[in-house]
Amino acid sequence: MNRSAEIAASEQKARAEALFNSIGDGVIATDEFGRITRINPMGRRILGYNKVDLLGAWFPDKVIMVDSEGRKTNLIDRPITKAFLTGKPISQKAFYLRKNGHPIPVAINVSPILANGKPVGAIEVFRDISFEEEIDRIKSEFISLASHQLRTPLSAIKTYSHMLLDGYMGDLNKPQDQALQTIVEAANRMNELISTLLNITRMESGAVAANIRLLRVDTLVKEVIKDLSSQATNKKIELSVNFSGAYSKTIRSDRVILKEILNNLVSNAVKYTPSGGSVTVKVRLRASEVVVDVHDTGWGIPKYSQDQIFSKFFRAENIVKRETTGTGLGLYLVKGLVDAINGRIWFESQEGKGTSFFLSLPRIKQQRAR
Ligand code: ADP
Repeated sequence: MNRSAEIAASEQKARAEALFNSIGDGVIATDEFGRITRINPMGRRILGYNKVDLLGAWFPDKVIMVDSEGRKTNLIDRPITKAFLTGKPISQKAFYLRKNGHPIPVAINVSPILANGKPVGAIEVFRDISFEEEIDRIKSEFISLASHQLRTPLSAIKTYSHMLLDGYMGDLNKPQDQALQTIVEAANRMNELISTLLNITRMESGAVAANIRLLRVDTLVKEVIKDLSSQATNKKIELSVNFSGAYSKTIRSDRVILKEILNNLVSNAVKYTPSGGSVTVKVRLRASEVVVDVHDTGWGIPKYSQDQIFSKFFRAENIVKRETTGTGLGLYLVKGLVDAINGRIWFESQEGKGTSFFLSLPRIKQQRAR
């Protein structure tokens, strides 16, 4: 290499180095064995380490990952391992332990570095999200407080509207009666919304503790159907239930949580099915699980929206233009509640044809069939 080429190469190297060092997020590069080959100043600042502490060290060993309860993450569950195993970029939120042992919430994105299709290392970008997490906590606290405070005036509105409707304060003419019914319906909707918000804040703060007891799944499903039957009748939707399988209808689960889940699924099915359609709740009793299938002949979920359906505030385009009321919080809550009772939830849907939401509830071993 001649002198000027040498100067150009070293200038290029210095520029690349400056670029790497100026990145505002933490960046760690490793070799194919997971040993740290580079770390930028922001990465060192987030983790509280010096360069010498980290260079050459085995990344999972040096940078400890823990969950929100401080439990160390297994190597197999670390994003870098998943990136190496799958050959794909992995994003995850977690906590890293700083050098002083203090956990710090981080958003991680790690990609394998591939050469001829083979991983020769990994590059991880991570961001300190303490501030976002704190905002989120304050937001949840505020929602929880506001929801509690809204309940009191709402219950006064409901009580007095009912007293007026029941004629305790004199006879009403037709328009007055109709106006009051609208007030009661709106108050009921508001009450449901407050419950959803409260349940979500509880779920997000990890405060949902399942109270597992023996319960009859048929009784519970019938209760949900009964609660929603007038809604279905008003929309001229046939709402039915059927049971199959010779195993016990008694399961061990949390009654309140399960009812909330089923109520959400069945009320969505009724809401998103046009008049004249049907909603069928099929309960299949199996040896190791009970599968509830809430099937409707409604508008369905467009293919391109299907992977977002359990996301917070998500409402599909075909629904938003037909039904203005809705928050996109129901299924987000359902997903969290299903996790809390160790169930599984998934769906199949075809736009214009209908949707089936499946809920699988595990049976607990020592239960005898009846
Ligand atoms: P909301 O019903 O308040 O919009 P959800 O979280 O319960 O919120 O549902 C999110 C979205 O999922 C709905 O807006 C709708 O697009 C879609 N969805 C849920 N259930 C059904 C269903 N049975 N049929 C069609 N779309 C559905």
